[in-house]
Amino acid sequence: MTLTLDWENLGFSYHNLPFRYISYFKDGKWDDGKLTETSVLAISESSPALHYGQQAFEGLKAYRTKEGKIQLFRPDKNAERLQKTADRLLMAQVPTDKFIEACKAVVKANQDYVPPYGTGGTLYLRPLLIGIGDGIGIRPAEEYIFTIFAMPVGSYFKGGLAPTNFVVSEDFDRASPYGTGAAKVGGNYAASLLPGMKAKKAGFSDVIYLDPATHTKIEEVGAANFFGITADNEFITPLSPSILPSITKYSLLELAQTRLGLKAVEGDVPIDQLDRFVEAGACGTAAVISPIGGIQYKGKLHVFYSETEVGPVTRALYDELIGIQFGDIEAPDGWIVPVDC
Ligand SMILES: *Cc1c(COP(=O)(O)O)cnc(C)c1O
Repeated sequence: MTLTLDWENLGFSYHNLPFRYISYFKDGKWDDGKLTETSVLAISESSPALHYGQQAFEGLKAYRTKEGKIQLFRPDKNAERLQKTADRLLMAQVPTDKFIEACKAVVKANQDYVPPYGTGGTLYLRPLLIGIGDGIGIRPAEEYIFTIFAMPVGSYFKGGLAPTNFVVSEDFDRASPYGTGAAKVGGNYAASLLPGMKAKKAGFSDVIYLDPATHTKIEEVGAANFFGITADNEFITPLSPSILPSITKYSLLELAQTRLGLKAVEGDVPIDQLDRFVEAGACGTAAVISPIGGIQYKGKLHVFYSETEVGPVTRALYDELIGIQFGDIEAPDGWIVPVDC
């Protein structure tokens, strides 16, 4: 009946689960959408998504609680971000209700694949919005597919909560100052494949990008946002129009302030002032919190707390966040959406 999976050792890889959701936008409106067992999309060879990158995606997770229930973490925020991305690329917006109902339907249909509580695994949902149809001219598509598939995942950066080292990308940017950096689009990822691969070959977890206008301030990690903790208990995360606004980051900003009593701020993080941080990390849905051991810049490795140990504030933030996500700690109002199975 079900795939046999090693729940304790899931990586971040595609699994063709039984069900996914698909909905079509045509003649100015969305159809009702439905679950389907087909994992292959049939689209016109001229689809704008394929030629001009008119596509967007999202990423969120379903969590199994101690009681065996299943819940989503802030799916309304993913819906809103997909709407903002759609606006930037002149795509059809997916309404928030439709987005959340589709997430719930996919989780419910694949509930056997939500990893058991205590394994650290989750069911990752990948919503995708693509411009399709016959239209090779450079203009927005008139038809769209909104689909969501799911796959069970473990932690994204191998090594879990152990710190890893990152390297500053000195030759490449992922986005331009007022380009599509804040939109969750595949094009930003295409641009980051080469620097990411070089970093991995050199033994680093991933790349840290600097602000594309001046190359003096930290922007973000390839697929996660950056935060640093100062000696006087400030949680600082970069503010910039070309950073992807991470829902995990905004959740941590709030938790740092309200639950851990830190001063939480968004502001400039100059690359030549790393000394002010006693801890640093990368955060995102896939990464959760990945402690940063050190950052290599201009050939020199700057170590924060330790290359091998997680700092106490990073650990406390991690415990608070996953405690909320897995239902062990009370969540701020509206953060948890149960999936009735
Ligand atoms: C999705 C994404 C993140 C993380 O955002 P979350 O909402 O926390 O998952 C960070 N950076 C980039 C470039 C992303 O695409």
